[in-house]
Amino acid sequence: MTEPIRVRIAPSPTGTVHLGLARTSLFNWAYARRLGGTFVLRIEDTDRTRSTAESETAILEGLGWLGIQWDEGPDVGGPHAPYRQSERVERHLAVAEQLRAAGHAYRCFCSAERLEEVRAEQQARQETPRYDRHCRDLDPAEAAARAEAGEAFTLRFRVPEGVCTFQDLVRGEVTIQNVEVDDWIMVRQGASPTYNFVVVCDDADMQITHVLRGEEHLVNTPKQLLLYRALDLAPPQFGHLPLMLGQNRKKLSKRDGSVSLDDYIALGYPKKAILNFLCLQGWALDGETEVFSMAQMVAAFDLKDVSKGGSIFDFEKFHWMAGEYLREESVEELADHCASHVVAAGLMTADELAERREWYLRVVAQEQERIRLYSELPARIRFYFEAHDAVTWDPKAEKGARKRGDAAGTLRDYAAWVSGQDLSNPAALGEASKAWVGEQGKQIPELFQPLRCALTGLPGGPDLFEVMVLLGPEAVAARLRAGAARFGVEPA
Ligand code: GLU
Repeated sequence: MTEPIRVRIAPSPTGTVHLGLARTSLFNWAYARRLGGTFVLRIEDTDRTRSTAESETAILEGLGWLGIQWDEGPDVGGPHAPYRQSERVERHLAVAEQLRAAGHAYRCFCSAERLEEVRAEQQARQETPRYDRHCRDLDPAEAAARAEAGEAFTLRFRVPEGVCTFQDLVRGEVTIQNVEVDDWIMVRQGASPTYNFVVVCDDADMQITHVLRGEEHLVNTPKQLLLYRALDLAPPQFGHLPLMLGQNRKKLSKRDGSVSLDDYIALGYPKKAILNFLCLQGWALDGETEVFSMAQMVAAFDLKDVSKGGSIFDFEKFHWMAGEYLREESVEELADHCASHVVAAGLMTADELAERREWYLRVVAQEQERIRLYSELPARIRFYFEAHDAVTWDPKAEKGARKRGDAAGTLRDYAAWVSGQDLSNPAALGEASKAWVGEQGKQIPELFQPLRCALTGLPGGPDLFEVMVLLGPEAVAARLRAGAARFGVEPA
């Protein structure tokens, strides 16, 4: 019988959900779901000064929002609780002591100043800075006596001679000479365990079978493997996911654009677009299909399809994909997703949105083809809410309209005619308006451009006659009057 698959993510609660964490979570989740495994979320708060409860909450909320559900974690519990590393320190220190007693770790009494001097000398000789193993061969009895007397110490791992080779699930065989691995600190002064040490204790205790994480952790893997060996434990299998890169092929960072999931949620990227786009960061469905669902991903997810090379995060394409998903939504869904943005922009209150639901749905339906993000709606529909004599005119819209003959006169004549028309059926109004233009001996743009400018101020946009119906007869009359007056005056 093969052992059940158990994967995990171990976010550090020191900020919000980074896109890299979201991607790693998604891949672990898909792997577990595809193979009927268990997905564990463990909070890695070893860095006590930077970890905060707010950040932990933000991470759980962010990942929860994406719909990546963990089977075990600090909030849902599980058979290996606690799932917060800070609550497992006793266990970590017991393992540290076990390793020290067996000779795999040793106390180091070097002061920060001494370590700094050693580093400076090494740098001056252009050597890679590393611990010079000053305390490695201290007599254990002497070390114990110094510790007993209250002298501060760290606990370092005694890296053995030899090589460390492993089969990375993504990258294939990886070999590192042990001499490349520093005698790293497992426990800092004041009995504070470090990441590379606790991650092994916890992964082993939680029976993690596969560690899928970002390539930036590849340097840590030999340290962790040597620790498994020292503990006489079978290590999990490791797979390092390619780095997410900016356009400059350097690790994706704030310089390239926002890297925080929260920002994309706030901007109104559809959830499915975020998920789909994250999937593409190092994985492909079939090399061609770019738009696919989570169900398709889970059904097809295989580590053999994860690329070794870094993946460039294309913000432009992400924005495009947002639009693709936004257009797939029903008008009701889209209206609901845009509602908070409309309220935040001060256009309507939540109550007004409910009262004028039918009207709002029609407005949204007109914009679905044009926007790519929920947050883009308010700017598109702001004109409905402006004072009739102070509609913001886009200079391009105004310029185009002024080129069309006597814009002021056309609008005045049209206003007189349209006041007698039925403003409830956009298609009929459109047809009648076109016929009216013909009767005037004018070309269609001579009416349409000034009309759009007067009603919306925009150079392009939704069907004009639908807009007229949505504005209603009074607003139309007032805007045509104001528009004719504005066109009657030469622009400054
Ligand atoms: N706390 C580490 C991180 O957030 C976890 C690394 C790991 O998965 O081992 O990158």
